[in-house]
Amino acid sequence: RTDLVTTTAVAAVSASTSAAVAAVRNLGILAHVDAGKTTVTERILFLTGAVHKRGEVHDGTTVTDFDPQERDRGITIFAAAVSCEWGGHRLNLIDTPGHVDFADEVERSLRVLDGAVAVFDAVSGVEPQSESVWRQADRHGVPRIAFVNKMDRPGADLDAAVASIREKLHPAPLAVQLPIGREGGFTGVVDLVGMRALTWPDGAEPGADCQVGDVPEELAAEAARRRQALAEAVAELHPAALEEYCATGSLTAAALTGALRQLTGSGQAVVVLCGSAYRNRGVEPLLDAVAAYLPSPLDVPPVRGEFDGAPQERTADPEQPFSALVFKVAATATGRLGSLRIYSGTLRKGDTVLDARTGRTERIGRILRVQADRHTETGTAVAGDIVAVVGAKGAKVGTTLCDPRAPLVLEPAVAADPVVTVA
Ligand code: GDP
Repeated sequence: RTDLVTTTAVAAVSASTSAAVAAVRNLGILAHVDAGKTTVTERILFLTGAVHKRGEVHDGTTVTDFDPQERDRGITIFAAAVSCEWGGHRLNLIDTPGHVDFADEVERSLRVLDGAVAVFDAVSGVEPQSESVWRQADRHGVPRIAFVNKMDRPGADLDAAVASIREKLHPAPLAVQLPIGREGGFTGVVDLVGMRALTWPDGAEPGADCQVGDVPEELAAEAARRRQALAEAVAELHPAALEEYCATGSLTAAALTGALRQLTGSGQAVVVLCGSAYRNRGVEPLLDAVAAYLPSPLDVPPVRGEFDGAPQERTADPEQPFSALVFKVAATATGRLGSLRIYSGTLRKGDTVLDARTGRTERIGRILRVQADRHTETGTAVAGDIVAVVGAKGAKVGTTLCDPRAPLVLEPAVAADPVVTVA
C-alpha cells in the first residue's frame, strides 16, 4: 500500500513536470538586419510582462540593446536568453545575432533552440542575408514560422512576401492571416484558422487590447476563399487532415491547428503571419502562433552524444541523468555566468556537475532565470529549460556539463559556414 501511494505520488510529480516541459518554447528570432527584429523582440517582452517600461529603438532605451542603467551587474546583459510568459507557456527567447559576420554565434544559438520566428520586411520580402540565416536554420532542422513585418509601409505586400518565401526559401509557406487595410491603413488581420478579425485601434500602445470581432463584410468572400485554399494546402501535406477534408470538404479550426503544428515541427510547412511591430499590430497573434505551432522540448528528437566512443542519447526527461550544453559564457561582477540549455535531468542549486571538456567537477552556485530587466533565482531547473548559472568556472562555449555518474559529451554544433563579410 505504501509503495502504491509513493508510486502514485511520483507519477503525479512527473506528469506535472512534463506538463511544464510541454509548455516551454525555446525560440530565437531570425532576421535580416533592419527587418525589425529588435522592435518585434521589444514588443514581445512588453506584452509578456518581461519588461516594465516601453523601449523605443530610436531613443536607445530598448532592453535588448545595451542598457547603461543595467542594475544587476551584468547578468541581464550577458545572459544569452530571456524568459517570459504567454498564455501559460514559458518562452525562452534566445539571442541570435542577425548579422552574417556572426555566423558562428548564430550557429551556437541555433544549436540550443527548438524553433524560430523569421522576421521579414513586407516591402522587400526575402533578402540575401535572410537566406543565409535561413539555410543555417535548415541545417540545424529548426522549425520556423514567418512574420512579415512592416505591413504599414508603402509598398507592403503580404502575397508578394509569401511568394518570395516560396521561391527562395521553402516550398510550402502557408499564410494563416489576411491583412485588413493596406499600408498606412493596415489595422489588423483576419485570422483564417478561427475566421475572426483581430484589430488594433489607431495609435495603440503595446499591450492595448487586441480587439476580436467578426470578419469585415467586405473581406468575407476573400477570407472564405483563402481559408479554403489553406485547408486544401494543409490536406495535401497531412494525411489525417486529408481524410477530414475529403469527408467534410473543409477543416475545423482544431484540425487545422493540429495539422499546422505537426507540419511546422517536421519542417514540411512554414506558417506565415503578418503585422507591424512598430505600430503594435500583430504581435499577440504571433505569440499565440509560437505557442500553437512551434515545438516544445518534448517534441524535438533526442539529443545525441557519446562517451568513450559509445553513442549516447538523452531525451527531455527530468528523471534522466543531467546533461546540458553551455552556449554562452560571460564574466560579470557576480562571477562567471554560463547560459545553459538543459537537455535531460534536473539541475539543483549546489549540485556537483562534471565539465566534460576539462574532466573536472564544478559546483553550481546559483541558478538564474533571466527576464529582460531583472533576474530571479531558482532552486531547480529541468530538462528542456534554459537558465544561467554562476559557478561553472571552467566552462567554455560548447562545453557539456553532466551528471558525474553518467558522463557524456553532447554532439558538437554543425560546422559553421565560412564567415562572409559584407562590404
Ligand atoms: P533590426 O535591425 O532587425 O533589429 O530592426 P529594428 O527593430 O531595429 O528596426 C529597423 C527599423 O525599422 C527601425 O527604424 C524601426 O523603427 C523600423 N521598424 C520596425 N518595425 C516596423 C514596422 O512595423 N513598420 C515600420 N514602418 N517600421 C518599422
